[in-house]
Amino acid sequence: MTQTVQQCLLSARQQLAQCVPADEANIEAQLLLMHVLEVNRAWLIAHATDSLAAEPANAFQALLHRRLQGEPVAHILGTREFFGLTLKVTADTLIPRPDTETLVEAALQKIHGAMRILDLGTGTGAIALAITRHAPQCEIIAVDASAAALAVAQQNASSLQLHNVQCLQSNWFTALGPASFDLIVSNPPYIEADDPHLQQGDLRFEPLSALASGTDGLQDIRQIIAQAPAHLNAGGWLMLEHGYNQAEAVQQLLNVAGFKNVQSLKDLGDHLRVTLGQLP
Ligand code: GLN
Repeated sequence: MTQTVQQCLLSARQQLAQCVPADEANIEAQLLLMHVLEVNRAWLIAHATDSLAAEPANAFQALLHRRLQGEPVAHILGTREFFGLTLKVTADTLIPRPDTETLVEAALQKIHGAMRILDLGTGTGAIALAITRHAPQCEIIAVDASAAALAVAQQNASSLQLHNVQCLQSNWFTALGPASFDLIVSNPPYIEADDPHLQQGDLRFEPLSALASGTDGLQDIRQIIAQAPAHLNAGGWLMLEHGYNQAEAVQQLLNVAGFKNVQSLKDLGDHLRVTLGQLP
């Protein structure tokens, strides 16, 4: 029996709603069908009553099946939208999240002139590439400990033709030598190692090294804060994403390390998600 675009989406949405929240089920059904038909969201709406040919209908069912088995949509599509950029995503990278756009916006507010910027643990390159798109005058170094992740960041930089981002393999600051920056940004791993969420949903498919950080989730943040002052110019900023309940701890770590003007910012979900401080 042939289905219309609308019927196909409705049925997929109902099945997806068994495993993800209703609003996400709707978006995910649309993303999968957009991918199969190679159309945008406006097309789906304008063509809601078109009937779907057997071939795309079957291809869509195959993708829906993969999603219902747990595979993240970003892995099925191979891409994720972040700050207006379409980024390649693989199993070697964290899947960029809307929460992290808060960090990009905060960084853009601090940027004036041709600053030197460091993105620690760049993954897909999401933060560095979003910054350079809006502040092309800056020179950005994006590091990651994972060569596989870095290859993805490099591919994203090339395909988006964003040439002011230099990708470098480094475990936090280790490969940087004495290099100094005006702004350091990072979305490091910050989940507690025994957090049950690591065994749930999309997180099961993402690199653990990008998610978990010691028993209190702060192991990497502690290391970054301790080492950042040696790599920041006077008046430079350090800006970190962290867990919804870690703002106070991160503020304290920044204060102890000698940072001034320490403050936390809320994400779209109203959680304190980013904390920043300035070197005197
Ligand atoms: N915000 C992510 C989550 O809770 C974690 C990403 C990270 O550890 N940097 O799913």
